[in-house]
Order: sequence, then structure tokens, then C-alpha cells
Amino acid sequence: MLHYLKQHYSTVVIGGGQAGLSASHYLKTHGIDHVVFEKKTVAHKWKDERWDAFCLVTPNWQCQLPDHPYDGEDPHGFMVKDQIIAYVDHFVKKVDAPVLEGTSVTSVEKMAGGGFTVETSAGTVTADSVVLATSLYSRPAVPRAAERLSDSIIQIHTADYRNPAQLPEGAVMVVGSGQSGCQIAEDLHLAGRKVHMVTGNAPRCARFYRGRDVVDWLADVGQYDITVAHEGMTKKKHDTNHYLTGRDGGRDIDLRKFALEGMELYGRMEGVANGKMLFAANLKSNLDNADRVYNGINGLIDRYIAEKGIDAPAGSPYLPLWEPECEPTELDLAHEGVTSVIWATGFTPDWSYVGLPIFDGTGYPVQQRGVTGIDGIYVLGLPWLWTWGSGRFLAVGKDAEHVVTHLTGYLGGLQPALKQMAGR
Ligand SMILES: Cc1cc2nc3c(=O)[nH]c(=O)nc-3n(C[C@H](O)[C@H](O)[C@H](O)COP(=O)(O)OP(=O)(O)OC[C@H]3O[C@@H](n4cnc5c(N)ncnc54)[C@H](O)[C@@H]3O)c2cc1C
Repeated sequence: MLHYLKQHYSTVVIGGGQAGLSASHYLKTHGIDHVVFEKKTVAHKWKDERWDAFCLVTPNWQCQLPDHPYDGEDPHGFMVKDQIIAYVDHFVKKVDAPVLEGTSVTSVEKMAGGGFTVETSAGTVTADSVVLATSLYSRPAVPRAAERLSDSIIQIHTADYRNPAQLPEGAVMVVGSGQSGCQIAEDLHLAGRKVHMVTGNAPRCARFYRGRDVVDWLADVGQYDITVAHEGMTKKKHDTNHYLTGRDGGRDIDLRKFALEGMELYGRMEGVANGKMLFAANLKSNLDNADRVYNGINGLIDRYIAEKGIDAPAGSPYLPLWEPECEPTELDLAHEGVTSVIWATGFTPDWSYVGLPIFDGTGYPVQQRGVTGIDGIYVLGLPWLWTWGSGRFLAVGKDAEHVVTHLTGYLGGLQPALKQMAGR
């Protein structure tokens, strides 16, 4: 850890999560002097923003941080929260990055004569290059309709959810059916709580199919090697993650099964009025679309098995266990005993500190595997920066290696130019 600042660094890394630390690992390997600014504490998201029963959705073998692959006894299992924290803490110790914790970067600007000024809560430094590693998960996203809920209803975002006991007695409304929403709804459902759930357009995926984890099949199929350079892949970065779980050794999440067991499901949330939550009439299409993707992925695996002549147990398409009898378009929350609402509505990035024109129309940085159009500015750790694993444990390290190799070349090219400017 660092306790003071120099005036100038070859590289400033912003964000001390696994992406920023992966960059630091390779910067150290290349002998590049740098600092990592982290506004809270290193890798704090795994400690501060995950619920008690949280476990990885990705199998342990996909934990491939640089020089720190998972080496435990359960490569096909799913680490629980404390194990993930231990895995990441071990990486933090190994990297021993020059981090300044509790230091927020408030602006990155280009200097007229070259290089960048980086303003932080601990002072201003200059740098020849900057790695932006602050992720897309900066700020909990909560729709403004939340302001129209009665004060008697407790509202939290998934980032603040810990366990069912944290919520007041009564029914819970979970808004959003992405990975977090589905897993938290399951957590509450297993604890015997009455759960209402707003569904969205998230797809789903089987945990196991034809005798193996679907992730293992997809790895063999080559799915995790596909890059955004492939035709049609550029839009992927805004896709919602598939829902499934690693809980208790891993299983599917089937909202239709939950509905049979008493969970109440609704279509997309349209708003809040007069104590009622309002929904679109698209519950059936949301469930059907999720299952269509589920069967589509299994179909891909079927074709792979057939092509390769692999001897695997038979599989069959998923058939719906339950169908909605109607499309409820409103729910009187007080009348149904709903005392809390969990916003499982995702996160938004916070790039407000970046004073450089590097973003596209959707707010995603324009870059080629982390290398932006502005010399010396790099990005790391975003979903589909390059591959599916770019925003995950699987491939953030590979992207970091690529970025730091490019950055090293860039800094190397700067030295003669700087010497020339200084008349040396
Ligand atoms: C609920 C959830 C479940 C996930 N499950 C899995 C999984 O099963 N498997 C998997 O591989 N991945 C998973 N991920 C994805 C990914 O591994 C994590 O999001 C991981 O935390 C990303 O690491 P990161 O370093 O890119 O970003 P972060 O962990 O978000 O780190 C960014 C850091 O930047 C800091 N920061 C932000 N702004 C500033 C600033 N202006 N100045 C200084 N510091 C700043 C933040 O404090 C933070 O520490 C999951 C993500 C979420 C949200």
C-alpha cells in the first residue's frame, strides 16, 4: 500500500478491483512505475456488495486472474462468498500493488504538451498513460418510479441486500429478473418468504446438460474465445446476463417452478401509482423468451455432440412446467402485504471523472481490446471489452496483459520524443 503521492507517474490506474490489480500485476512485470487509485478499499465489491448466500455463477476453474488460477479441490464447484473473498485477497497480496486506498479520482484531462492530469481527493498528479478500470457497476440503478412508493415500504438495491432477516416481516417485491434478482428471489423463497417478482427480458441457461456443466460444454464449443471482432458480436456488451445459479453445487433457476410453489410473477414494471405497482402484460413472453434461449443453448450443445460423435447422456428440450393464467397489470402493495421492495435493476457506470472524448452513443468506451483512440488511455474490465470473459474472472487478466503490452510500447515510443523535446 502507498501512503504518499509522487508528482508524476508513467501510468495511473483508476480502480482497485480485479481489473485494476490485473493491470498493476503486468505493469510491475514490465517495470513500469505506476499508482492505483481506489476510492474505497481494494476489491471491496466482493465484500461490500454481495449477499450472504452469494456464490459464483461461473465455475471455479474460470477464476483465472493473472498468475493466480483457481487451484482448489473443486474446479467444477462454485465458490461461496467467503471463499471468493479469500481467493481475491490472496491475489491482492500476491500483486502487492502500489495502491492508494480511500482516494477518489475526480478528473482525467489531457495536457496541452502531452500526457494527462489526474485530479484525486488526495491531490493532483500527472501521468503519461492512464488505465480506466472502474467497471460498469459503479452506481446502483433505481428507476425514478421508486420515489412514488409509500414511505412505509423499505426499499433497497441488490448491492445492499444481505439476507431475508434484514427485511421486515411481510411479502417482498423483487423488481428485475437478471442474475442477481433471480438469485435473491430464490434466497427469499427458500427462506419461506412470500415473494412477488417483476420479470424482464433476461435470458436463462441450464446449469447442467447432457452430463456436464453447460459452461464446460460452451468452453469446448469455443464460445469463450469469440471476440467482439466477430460479426454481430458488437452489440453483446449491453446484453443482460443469463440467469442460473451456482448455489448448493449449481442448478437451474426456473421461475415457472417458483410460480408453482407460490411465487407471484409479473411482466415488466411500468410505474407506480396510488400505492399500486403497474406492469406490462408481457410475463408470458418474458418466460417464453428466457426458455427459448435456454433451449437454444442446449441445441448448440446437441449439435456439437453430434458433430464430434461424443458419447453423452441424452438430452431433451425444456417444456414449461407452468403457464400464467392471466397477465396481471397492477398490484396493490399494501393490500398484498408487501413491506419491502428490492431493486434488482442493475448498475450504471460512472465515467463522470473522464474528461476525454472516448465514448460511443451508448456511453461505452470506443476501444479495441482496451486500447482507446486517445494515445495513452486504456480501459479494462468491461463486459465484452474483447470476449465474454472480459468483465469476469476468466479473461480480465488476458486483456490486462494485452493492454499493458500495448501501453509499454506506447511509453517506449514516448521516451525519444520526450528527450527530443527536452533538447537531450
Ligand atoms: C452481482 C454480481 C455477480 C457477479 N458474479 C460473477 C461471477 O460469478 N463470476 C465472474 O467471473 N464475475 C462475476 N461478476 C462480474 C465481475 O467479476 C465483478 O463485477 C468484479 O467486481 C469486476 O471487477 P472490476 O475490477 O472490473 O470492477 P470493480 O470490482 O467494480 O472495481 C472497480 C473499482 O473502482 C473503484 N472506483 C470507481 N470509481 C472510482 C474513482 N472515480 N476513483 C477511484 N476508484 C474508483 C471502485 O471503488 C471499485 O473498487 C459479478 C458481478 C456482479 C455485480
